[in-house]
Amino acid sequence: MDTEEVPCFPHIEVLRIGHRPDRDKRITTHVSLVARAFGARGIHIDTRDPVMEDTIDKVKRQFGGDFFIRSGVSMRGIMGHWMGTIVHLTMYGMPLDEAVKNICPREKILVVVGAEKVPREVYDLAHFNVSVGNQPHSEVSALALFLDRMLGGRELDMKMPGGELLIEPNRRGKTVVTNGNNLTGSRDPVSQEWPPVPDPKMCLELLKEVGCSRPVIIHVKAVRDLGIQMLDRSRKLHPERDLDIDPGLLEAGLLLHDIGRSQTHSISHITHGVIIARRLGLDERLIGMIHDHLGAGVTATEATALGLPPEDHIPSTLMEKIVCHADNLVGNRGRRTLKEAVEKLREKGADAGADRMMELHKELEDALGIDIDELVGTSPKDY
Ligand code: SAM
Repeated sequence: MDTEEVPCFPHIEVLRIGHRPDRDKRITTHVSLVARAFGARGIHIDTRDPVMEDTIDKVKRQFGGDFFIRSGVSMRGIMGHWMGTIVHLTMYGMPLDEAVKNICPREKILVVVGAEKVPREVYDLAHFNVSVGNQPHSEVSALALFLDRMLGGRELDMKMPGGELLIEPNRRGKTVVTNGNNLTGSRDPVSQEWPPVPDPKMCLELLKEVGCSRPVIIHVKAVRDLGIQMLDRSRKLHPERDLDIDPGLLEAGLLLHDIGRSQTHSISHITHGVIIARRLGLDERLIGMIHDHLGAGVTATEATALGLPPEDHIPSTLMEKIVCHADNLVGNRGRRTLKEAVEKLREKGADAGADRMMELHKELEDALGIDIDELVGTSPKDY
């Protein structure tokens, strides 16, 4: 995966506490190098150490990126005024995977790692005390694993613009080239705040990376074809209509709506989907399409009865409605008409859901000015 395709990097900074310049030179250097290499924006070190700052600045000059290092900071000052989430890595904390599911990637994250004895107040100031296994090991490994989980492995493909040297991967030996042109033209995932919408190729890669099976991928492609067909037919018949639709975003939503099926095929694939999407740092509008794609929508009461968190899952935007309904009309064995989809729901006793689906169908036909059942009968290439 190329840097240009990395959808988003959460904003993560590291705070190294308990640094003793005489004894911890090597390990604090390694903490800083890991922070930089694995996608953090910068590191704060609680003891003044200009030599350490020079070392890391030199790495930055040579290999690029915007990483900052600041030493001699006050631990209380930073933790006490941090506007975001504070994560303290400690063998006594909650398990890493559980924590990562609950840490919001949209908030700025401060990761605190200790040296020898960590004061009690650090545990109290942190929103999450997180353990990377419950055995004692090292701040270097704990930080690397935390960043990797939080960034979903994408940090390994990150390129850092502006360096003097470039490594060319080589199976046998070393290839280092001088970067005469400096990569200033490429996008920097470290400085970029929010991502572009993943293109279709990237969406399919993401689905595979998180573990979606082949049948899920075949299904979402069929949903994508129908949803895009609805939009294209509408644009062809009614070029004058100003639909509130971003085609790239809609296509990404159609492809990613079932990303939670990498974890389960039960109804809670919705909840898993949202967690994965947040972890990947996807656009909120995509998260909406994942969250609200069940049938023609599910109320909070219905969600509770189905074992989901008590929240409404009612599609509200036109794009959410298209994702929902294209999904309704792509069954296990291919496309189906509204009548077939509704009958299926009535057989299950879901009359309210069936009525809502009929309403959604009508609403979309009116908004898009198309005959959706007629479209269902065509092949994707016909539009
Ligand atoms: N005895 C110290 C304490 O009070 O926590 C731990 C010292 S340990 C050598 C240094 C740092 O490594 C810790 O502060 C913590 O950040 C990190 N660390 C070590 N083992 C860890 C684990 N299993 N999970 C998370 N972090 C760990």
